[in-house]
Amino acid sequence: MSIKNVVVIGTGFAGLSAATHLANQGYNVSLLEKNSTPGGRARKFEAEGFVFDMGPSWYWMPDVFETYFGHFGKKPSDYYDLIRLDPSYTVVFGDNDFMDIPANLAAFRALLETIEPGVGPKLDEFLKQAAYKYEVGIKDLVYRPSRSIFEFTSPGLLLDMIRMDIFQSMSKHVRKFFKEDKIIRLMEFPVLFLGETAQNIPALYSLMNYADIALGTWYPDGGMHKIIEGMVKLAEEKGVKFYYDAEVTSLDIQNGIAKAVFTKDGRKFDADVVVAGADYNHIDQKVLEPAYRNYDEKYWDKRVMAPGSLLFYLGVNKKLDNLRHHNLFFDEPLGPHADAIYTNPRWPEKPLFYASVPSKTDPTVAPEGMENLFLLVPLAPDLEDTEEMREKYYDIIMDRLERLTGQEVRSHVVYKRSYAHKDFKSDYHAFKGNAYGLANTLLQTAILKPSLKNKKVKNLYYTGQLTVPGPGVPPSLISGHVVAKEVMKENNL
Ligand SMILES: Cc1cc2nc3c(=O)[nH]c(=O)nc-3n(C[C@H](O)[C@H](O)[C@H](O)COP(=O)(O)OP(=O)(O)OC[C@H]3O[C@@H](n4cnc5c(N)ncnc54)[C@H](O)[C@@H]3O)c2cc1C
Repeated sequence: MSIKNVVVIGTGFAGLSAATHLANQGYNVSLLEKNSTPGGRARKFEAEGFVFDMGPSWYWMPDVFETYFGHFGKKPSDYYDLIRLDPSYTVVFGDNDFMDIPANLAAFRALLETIEPGVGPKLDEFLKQAAYKYEVGIKDLVYRPSRSIFEFTSPGLLLDMIRMDIFQSMSKHVRKFFKEDKIIRLMEFPVLFLGETAQNIPALYSLMNYADIALGTWYPDGGMHKIIEGMVKLAEEKGVKFYYDAEVTSLDIQNGIAKAVFTKDGRKFDADVVVAGADYNHIDQKVLEPAYRNYDEKYWDKRVMAPGSLLFYLGVNKKLDNLRHHNLFFDEPLGPHADAIYTNPRWPEKPLFYASVPSKTDPTVAPEGMENLFLLVPLAPDLEDTEEMREKYYDIIMDRLERLTGQEVRSHVVYKRSYAHKDFKSDYHAFKGNAYGLANTLLQTAILKPSLKNKKVKNLYYTGQLTVPGPGVPPSLISGHVVAKEVMKENNL
């Protein structure tokens, strides 16, 4: 079979990555996006002189981006300049209890020694194991398409998996090394990116601590959206054709083969292969006819989704004190908030929240003398999302922000936009309004994730944060590469 036309759906990291890899191999790739700008959850918008990144703000695992651009003979620096943040971030534990996390490893070790004397060697061992997991996990495991258990059954790999504590929880693992609550909270924080609590995340993911502590927190000068701009430019250089305002509504499937893709405005795109980078659930349950769905409603309802988010994009007409680029407000206990997200879904009584102020690093994202402030409260997916609730939580977190940082903020807000479940649904067709896709629990790892291939439509593949390897910017980039390799393997040009 000679393949000419690949239609990729969605210009998130995964769709862009898949499209570029395939175009690079000589396929004729059309990339269809429902919105009018690229980037999916990583879009940007501009208002009154402020430039807001709409989603991701933490640039971790710089090696994954180097590998991505490296496949095409490029470097991230061909498209954007990276700044290493120092401190990496700050954690607010309470009134006058702020902890700057230094970028330098020796300084970080010294900081932990002040909290838990004698902890240095334990940190060294913890990081040594985490480095090993990073090496095997990020350089090998995540690149496996996870379509069969046999991908994971070589004796060497099985031994590796045992060494990587795949069956132990992150929570237990961290407590084997550390006793002090502050250190435990610090070590458990990165798994929040994976969409579950440390009790339900395999200890394999201490690789995230290696990413955090050893590899560092970076910022693309100009904003996270610079990555998307770079990826779009590269995709265009490789010949990918972009179509915006092109919402895919159906597929023409004949004898189990997708022949064409239709958009809402009636356009038809002939296809030899289709790669769906839009939310998996949406394509599976809304775009495909029941006969071609990979899973039923019951299956989807049983999936553990990563949290949704309530976001505020704020323009502030003065410089803010006592805030860094990244600020984690851990001044309330995690337990009740986690319960409100994962166990008894509800709006949390005392939410933890995150504040990003990219204008602390980058003067281009706010007018002179002003600040770009992004607030995020993680929430259970599918909560009732009303203006009243958003406002109530705005007040709750603003009260805390003002008190803990000792300044008036609210009265200086000159631009304000909120964003939550309803917006995730209408902008991205997000299942249950999720922000970060599917949680990386043990039972939703590798072959236990929604498959990257449709079982009933021979030439339909999936990519993105609801399939392998999982949520986050680096995994989404990798997901696009993994699916492209499967397409190439099964559909030689
Ligand atoms: C608020 C927030 C903060 C985050 N913070 C971080 C962070 O700091 N670091 C990090 O690494 N990760 C972070 N993440 C996660 C990361 O952003 C995502 O995992 C990643 O961007 C997902 O990429 P994707 O390509 O899978 O999906 P998406 O970005 O959602 O892309 C899917 C695309 O498909 C399009 N689409 C949907 N339906 C259709 C259709 N029918 N037809 C055509 N197009 C369609 C959508 O419009 C969208 O553009 C964050 C996410 C959010 C929401």
